[in-house]
Amino acid sequence: MRKVNFHTHTYRCNHAHGSDEEYVLEAIRNGYEELGFSDHSCWKYNSDFESHVRMSVQGFNSYKKSIMNLKEHYADQIEIKLGMEAEYFPDYMDWMLDFCIENEVDYLILGNHYDRTDETGVYFGHTTYSHMRDYFELCMEGLRTGMYSYLAHPELILRSVEWDDYVEMLFSKLCRVCKELDIPLEYNVLGMQVNMRSGKEAYPHHKFWELAGFYHNKAIIGMDAHHPAHLSKKLYEAALDNLSQYEVEIIDEIPLKDFKAIKRAKQGLK
Ligand SMILES: [Zn+2]
Ligand SMILES: [Zn+2]
Repeated sequence: MRKVNFHTHTYRCNHAHGSDEEYVLEAIRNGYEELGFSDHSCWKYNSDFESHVRMSVQGFNSYKKSIMNLKEHYADQIEIKLGMEAEYFPDYMDWMLDFCIENEVDYLILGNHYDRTDETGVYFGHTTYSHMRDYFELCMEGLRTGMYSYLAHPELILRSVEWDDYVEMLFSKLCRVCKELDIPLEYNVLGMQVNMRSGKEAYPHHKFWELAGFYHNKAIIGMDAHHPAHLSKKLYEAALDNLSQYEVEIIDEIPLKDFKAIKRAKQGLK
């Protein structure tokens, strides 16, 4: 299996460290064949809200330029893709679709961090049981847009709530929908590091992966690198070992989406 990672941040989100080139060099050193950058996406808000955990719309150009330069410079050593980790913000999805087309973004992964928008919505990594249903509904609604290549840290909500029968029912539903839509689920290695440090299992969660195994979902390892050191092959191998215990189909390719075709289909519906 090819060693690949499509979940890599950059300093532009204000909570990741190192230069773009350091991530590429670390990936090459650790034997990755492909590296996708997926920094926290910009959004064009209807308000004057400014997020401090993502790149700005103006900042995107420097992001793209830097990644494209590295792609060309290291072409004989590693394959590089330009992506973004984006939420599902229903009111802004038309804008995002156009943005991906205009800027030739290779892929989006769904990181369902906030409820409908981060201008006003709660952060799902730190919320209450009452917001749980929304988390799942937004995940599924977002994936149905067809714009996302995979679902990042599907169990993010387990930072906020404990596993119980109701949670299990919602995760089963999510796994079935991902199976139906052929969307891979991410085994998140940053979360694995947090679990190891804290001794508490939030995500990845073994009960979730048992369910994904039961439904034979596709799975992909995502390092969620916020520092070049997060690309360590030891971490990658530990994740692969863990994930291999489940009956999931581990993939090493990111399914790309045709943003233009999605736009045409949307226009056809209007
Ligand atoms: Zn995320
Ligand atoms: Zn991330």
